[in-house]
Amino acid sequence: MNRRRLPALGTLAAAVAAAVTGGCSSYQSYQESRVTLTEQWFGAPQAVALARLAPVGGSRVEGSVGFYQYGAFVVVRANFLGLAANRDYGLHVHEGRNCADIGGHFNPRGTPHGRFDQDARHAGDLPNVRAEGEASTMYAFQAGALTVTEGRNSVIGRTIVLSRDPDDYRTQPDGASGPPLACGFIRPG
Ligand SMILES: [Zn+2]
Repeated sequence: MNRRRLPALGTLAAAVAAAVTGGCSSYQSYQESRVTLTEQWFGAPQAVALARLAPVGGSRVEGSVGFYQYGAFVVVRANFLGLAANRDYGLHVHEGRNCADIGGHFNPRGTPHGRFDQDARHAGDLPNVRAEGEASTMYAFQAGALTVTEGRNSVIGRTIVLSRDPDDYRTQPDGASGPPLACGFIRPG
């Protein structure tokens, strides 16, 4: 298990707190601040994985997702086209190794579905994507649940799926996030 904490974390947490109290209002901008600080702090990522998401089931939604490993953290950056404005969409890494058979949420620890920042969650549980217009960008910050580097928590070879409805972060086994709108295979970047 990768539970160790890097020495820089305390300082990083303080910097994040300063950024948040410094005027970031929305959850998404809060996430963006964390991601930016992580990138500045750690420099180049140690490993990268990328997925291009194609429309599923007659949707017109497509996008791309990048996974960037920084020490014990993986930053997830996503961009989507074709989303309806002012709606939330579920985003999850799935167990399946191709988009014809996505399986359940990626769950190497055998834990219940849950909110991405709680202990009881699938490794593949990510924050909802908030669409603010034609194009949407989502920033997330993961601590230890996923890796890009090799191991049982690695996203390489899995699938990433954007769903029609928001994840309520409670309902088993998928947060009631509805059918897929777009799917992509995650490959080394
Ligand atoms: Zn889940």
